[in-house]
Amino acid sequence: MENEEFDFIIIGTGAGGGTVAKILADAGKTILIIERGDFLKREKENWQAESVFVDGRYNPAEKWRDKNGKSFIPGTHYFVGGNTKFYGAALLRLRESDFNEIKHYGGTSPAWPLKYDDFKPFYLKAEKLYEVHGKRGEDPTEPHEDSPYPFPEISHEPFVKDIFNKVKEENLNPFHLPLGVRLNEQNKDKSLCIRCSTCDGYPCLVDAKSDADRICIVQIIEKDNVRLLINTKAEELITDEIGKKITAVKVTQENKERMFKAKNFIVSCGAINSAALFLKSKSKQHPNGLANSSDLIGRYYMCHNNSAIVALGNKRNTVKFQKTIGINDFYHNADDSKLPLGHIQLLGKVMPDMLKADAPFFTPRFITRLMADFAVGWWITSEDLPDLENRVLVNDNKEICLHYTENNTEAHERLLKKLKKILNLTGHFHHFPNNAYLSKKIPIAGVAHQVGTMRFGNDPKTSVLDTNCKTHDIDNLHVVDGSFFPSSGAVNPALTIIANAIRVGESLI
Ligand SMILES: Cc1cc2nc3c(=O)[nH]c(=O)nc-3n(C[C@H](O)[C@H](O)[C@H](O)COP(=O)(O)OP(=O)(O)OC[C@H]3O[C@@H](n4cnc5c(N)ncnc54)[C@H](O)[C@@H]3O)c2cc1C
Ligand code: SF4
Repeated sequence: MENEEFDFIIIGTGAGGGTVAKILADAGKTILIIERGDFLKREKENWQAESVFVDGRYNPAEKWRDKNGKSFIPGTHYFVGGNTKFYGAALLRLRESDFNEIKHYGGTSPAWPLKYDDFKPFYLKAEKLYEVHGKRGEDPTEPHEDSPYPFPEISHEPFVKDIFNKVKEENLNPFHLPLGVRLNEQNKDKSLCIRCSTCDGYPCLVDAKSDADRICIVQIIEKDNVRLLINTKAEELITDEIGKKITAVKVTQENKERMFKAKNFIVSCGAINSAALFLKSKSKQHPNGLANSSDLIGRYYMCHNNSAIVALGNKRNTVKFQKTIGINDFYHNADDSKLPLGHIQLLGKVMPDMLKADAPFFTPRFITRLMADFAVGWWITSEDLPDLENRVLVNDNKEICLHYTENNTEAHERLLKKLKKILNLTGHFHHFPNNAYLSKKIPIAGVAHQVGTMRFGNDPKTSVLDTNCKTHDIDNLHVVDGSFFPSSGAVNPALTIIANAIRVGESLI
């Protein structure tokens, strides 16, 4: 294989890499896919809260450092399918306004070089590919689209339906959250998804989640034009003598170094690891890291202002699959705010083991079990703004350093107040932080929504990638993951990463 020259080498198999691999493989390109992780083993721990959230069974065996040098275990996952193996599969489009400049409490969110209409056809393709279930027309902030979702919305269970109706009675517009779970409610015998309570944050034991592994990688690995190397970490990209082309990627596999060649390279390691790979790949022409003439590689890191809220209700929560409501009434503004606050969605079912970490050590287990029985988990997201000093660096020991100072927090605090008000109206009135994988305010280790470390744009001085996600500096090098976002919006990022991967993949064909 080392003597072969592929049309494309793709590094990473998550939302970006997995999707672009499928597009190029289906078009007959010869591709080598390099993934540092393994296939995620199907085992009963997949669906055990203690294994996933307390023991960190699927967390990486590496530590990163914050701006004070303090180490932490990042909340990311290295497996075929990347973070989509664990995601809650809430697959929303950015709003049309997210592509324009927007004023926020904490500053200004910049305009994108492309607009919603440029992404629109690819969003539809992304929804078809990832089998998104949803209902158009309920959410007033929804961007325009004539075609329905490819699959009907996931129904609310009675307990959630009651909350949905009560929120509606308050003249708000709750909507069915668009979801990538392969549930067939019309013909249950044919359904891959069994509608369980361990979806959001867990891998799917029955392979029914629309993740990049199942939807893309396993669909193409039998093809003659596709090779997949797992447990293989890209360490460095090597340029030609004049530094204008990538000729090879150096990898480590079972502690051995190997090199692979291709005509084109696509880096899709996730926004943080992609930036780290570029920063590590120094050469004579690229002394500050590859394709870094702008000095912007790793900068403008964003990850959203996210909080998990647990509301204790006065009724036993009997729900299995809870994550079916979204609320965007405060996305652009609110009755008492001219500026945007953000997005609200239900979380998956709260389990006693998730609450354990936040309870005092002497709390008996029956108390956390009782609390979980009455708990409803919510997730709120507000935009964080791109800041030059929020950045990924690599230190002399080749460790990833993540420098991050939060911003636009006023929007987030206001959104939290709005949610509490709604919860009071629905009968859920006690609140406390949940500190296992969901803390009250998600800390620096919560890198789930990482974007922005190689923003795309027209000007090589102010962006790393052009509008086709090719690096301005190097001709045969593209980045297709969350790195390209110039701003983060306030909805979950995966559908936009997938749509962009389809867009770039088609442009490469
Ligand atoms: C618990 C959780 C819940 C989430 N829920 C949602 C949700 O409901 N909706 C939503 O839109 N988003 C959600 N997200 C975020 C979503 O999963 C990410 O936005 C998305 O997966 C990012 O795609 P990506 O291609 O940028 O990177 P990833 O999916 O992270 O893929 C990167 C891939 O690159 C590999 N890799 C990294 N470095 C190297 C290297 N040096 N060499 C080789 N391979 C490498 C990794 O192993 C991985 O497979 C969630 C994330 C988490 C963790
Ligand atoms: S709800 Fe469906 S897709 Fe999600 S983990 Fe359970 S079976 Fe899998």
